[in-house]
Amino acid sequence: MLSLILCLATFALWARSYWQYDVLTYDYVHPPGPWTRWFLTSNSGVLTFARGDYTVPGDSSRGLYFHSSSAYRPITGTLGFAWDNHNSDPTVNFMRYSLDFPHWSLATLLAIAPIFWFFGPRLRRATRHRLGLCPSCGYDLRATPDRCPECGRLATEAQSAEI
Ligand SMILES: [Zn+2]
Repeated sequence: MLSLILCLATFALWARSYWQYDVLTYDYVHPPGPWTRWFLTSNSGVLTFARGDYTVPGDSSRGLYFHSSSAYRPITGTLGFAWDNHNSDPTVNFMRYSLDFPHWSLATLLAIAPIFWFFGPRLRRATRHRLGLCPSCGYDLRATPDRCPECGRLATEAQSAEI
């Protein structure tokens, strides 16, 4: 259920990413020295999860920070997937590791659980019915087609449950 909600939220974020560039950052500071900034950005159909390591004290916003601006189209990588690490500014000794992945990949992943949850039991019942097994417990009903000797389920009950 949680997966379904997250899946729908991902679709909403996906749509939003074509006009809004959303950035969520979390700064983890170890005063007074190095600090780490975690990034989660959503832009033009691509989500980026990144980590920036600053080895010198700097301008950190300390804690959770959300920023949104107009979307742009800078996207590189194959189908929106990319992995990168670079030292963008040697003077501040900033190291950034980033992973890009498209919204649809996350949405697909999150859709797997609800699909199994929804279709799994139906598929199992249908398979058991086809094999002549009790739809509720899986006991072999070929010898006793009217009533399951294992769980007591009646064949008529089983029929109605199929529909
Ligand atoms: Zn049974």
